[in-house]
Amino acid sequence: SELQVLFQPIVNARSYQIARMEALVRWSHPRHGYLTPSEFIPLAEATGLIVPMGAWVLQQACADAASWPEHIRVAVNVSAVHFRKGNLFDVILCALAESGLAPDRLELEITETVFVENVEENLSNIRQLKNLGISVSIDDFGTGNSSMSHLTLFPFDKIKIDKSFTQAVLARRDFQAVVASTLLLAKGLGIEVTADGIENKEQLEYMRAAGVDLVQGYLLGRPAPALRFIFPITGTSPEMVA
Ligand code: C2E
Ligand code: CA
Repeated sequence: SELQVLFQPIVNARSYQIARMEALVRWSHPRHGYLTPSEFIPLAEATGLIVPMGAWVLQQACADAASWPEHIRVAVNVSAVHFRKGNLFDVILCALAESGLAPDRLELEITETVFVENVEENLSNIRQLKNLGISVSIDDFGTGNSSMSHLTLFPFDKIKIDKSFTQAVLARRDFQAVVASTLLLAKGLGIEVTADGIENKEQLEYMRAAGVDLVQGYLLGRPAPALRFIFPITGTSPEMVA
């Protein structure tokens, strides 16, 4: 197939154990070569192709995750466009049923636009997903139009601080303030925070000291095919192999 799903580890900030793997789609186009998601996702959203593509990624990610150790969840990005389409719920139910993955091992990552447009409908979709036991995270937190009121209105399980914050936090006091207030709010609401885009030890130490629960970035592991992460039943830990 021209599409492929890579997985990047999301690691516990205290134990350094892999807690989740984020599914990241890749496309090797026969004529245009290797395309990154930022090149083709906007096009797929505009043409509607995001619906079958999103369904395929969900199926693939759930099928792969079903063979991992039970404590490792899978995080799948869902486009706001796909989120609005009625079939997302069925696609998810199908992917879970076919793979046998428990719903509490699936986490959806949704960007902030979901909270600005079609608020009522999106809210009811999120409640339905949560009733099934699926977790929902806000992705790229801080980059969109999110406000504090969205966080209290929508029943999220996790906030992901965008990599643009992680990567400039050491140099910018205003970003330090955003990180600190995000963490304060998340603790108050009882939800987990992930810092994305960690590339060096200084960024890692800053985010750990600030109190994030989970960390993700090239320093901890790059996106790779699922086969790279061999999870033996005994012997070396998956963390060492990854
Ligand atoms: P995202 O959800 O914010 O995903 C994180 C992106 O940051 C990924 O880029 C990942 O490879 C990259 N990244 C992770 N750690 C680091 C780091 O330390 N440094 C730097 N510079 N980058 C890092 P990728 O795979 O190119 O994906 C870009 C975006 O495309 C994703 O951003 C997500 O919004 C979207 N995307 C990817 N896969 C899917 C998918 O299956 N469905 C949908 N709807 N969107 C997807
Ligand atoms: Ca994401």
